[in-house]
Amino acid sequence: MSKYSPFNCFMMERKPEVERRLGRYLPMWELASEVSEEWQAMSNSEKMRYQRLCSQQGDKLDSYGVPLRLREEENQMKKQEARDMQHHIADIVNKYHSSGGLGLLPFYVISGSFYLRMDEGCYVPAEISLLKFSFKTGIIREFHAIVEPFLPVSYRWLAMKHSRATHNLLPKDGADGEKIKQVARSPTQVANRIKNFLSEDYDKCRPLYTLHSEVEQVQQMLHSMTGEDRLKVYSLDILFQHIHSVLIRKILLHESTDVITESLWEYHVGIACKWHIDNEQDSVRYCTMSCVKRWVFLMCRHIGMVPAFGVVPEEGKHYPVEEPVLSTVVNLPLLMQNLNMPDDISSGIISAIPTSSPAPQEATLGTCHHRR
Ligand SMILES: [Zn+2]
Repeated sequence: MSKYSPFNCFMMERKPEVERRLGRYLPMWELASEVSEEWQAMSNSEKMRYQRLCSQQGDKLDSYGVPLRLREEENQMKKQEARDMQHHIADIVNKYHSSGGLGLLPFYVISGSFYLRMDEGCYVPAEISLLKFSFKTGIIREFHAIVEPFLPVSYRWLAMKHSRATHNLLPKDGADGEKIKQVARSPTQVANRIKNFLSEDYDKCRPLYTLHSEVEQVQQMLHSMTGEDRLKVYSLDILFQHIHSVLIRKILLHESTDVITESLWEYHVGIACKWHIDNEQDSVRYCTMSCVKRWVFLMCRHIGMVPAFGVVPEEGKHYPVEEPVLSTVVNLPLLMQNLNMPDDISSGIISAIPTSSPAPQEATLGTCHHRR
């Protein structure tokens, strides 16, 4: 959301009064949801007042009512931030690689899902997962939180539709609601737990890495929960592109994205969070814990731990813990009958269907496979 949009001006004007009424600090998305119905009920002439607040006479406006002059400034700032990110990532990868310590470089990987993306561009956060990781150690520590759903009434249907199509975190009935209540935390509590998890790295403003296409979404959610712009969210795809380039060969950004987002392990239940494992196994591919683990495991698999770092991959740290074997009793004569095959084979044979993913040794080490 542009800070120069009329809605943002309106929100900032209403912020002190709404916070005084509720007696607490409100993150941006919650403030947006508190005042959005009031904004929607306003007449166009009332909204014009806020348009005038953020524009000068003669300004041309875009379709969101933001002056093109200020939109251009914002675009320039975003381009500068993108250049800063590229330089930071290239510098840190080259520095660790030239000293032979790339495998020891610790970095944070984050994924954030949302209940709702409001018209004004605010995301209402749903689930946050965060890993501290290095190639030598694999997953060092992990963080997971589900955020209480604060949704304006007029958006609930839209949020439910999104939830059912993806993470299924919104309760469908009273019993579901009770289960979520036991684990969900307020945005302020989640923000404090993230700060504790990052510890001194929070003060050092260490970047957190997420999917290239989700950088803005995660940045916006963290900003609104912590109330600060301290945490920088960078592209994991660019980080992996640089790591792959110094270790194996140069690759393009889209090739890096293809590696990280490969569909392997999307339905591997064991890498999801406890809540998704216990309640919504059909939605595990949308669980943010499953996402962050998949991304780092896929990077390990494609780079090859032994040739790149001389490290034997560890289960649960570099690749998923094997799923339990699913055993089923098959009535073979009945099966043969259905297939019109001879039925002179004894019945009651136990068939074991492994559900685990390919073992890491089966991965071609040191080469790069891309999903097409
Ligand atoms: Zn989950």
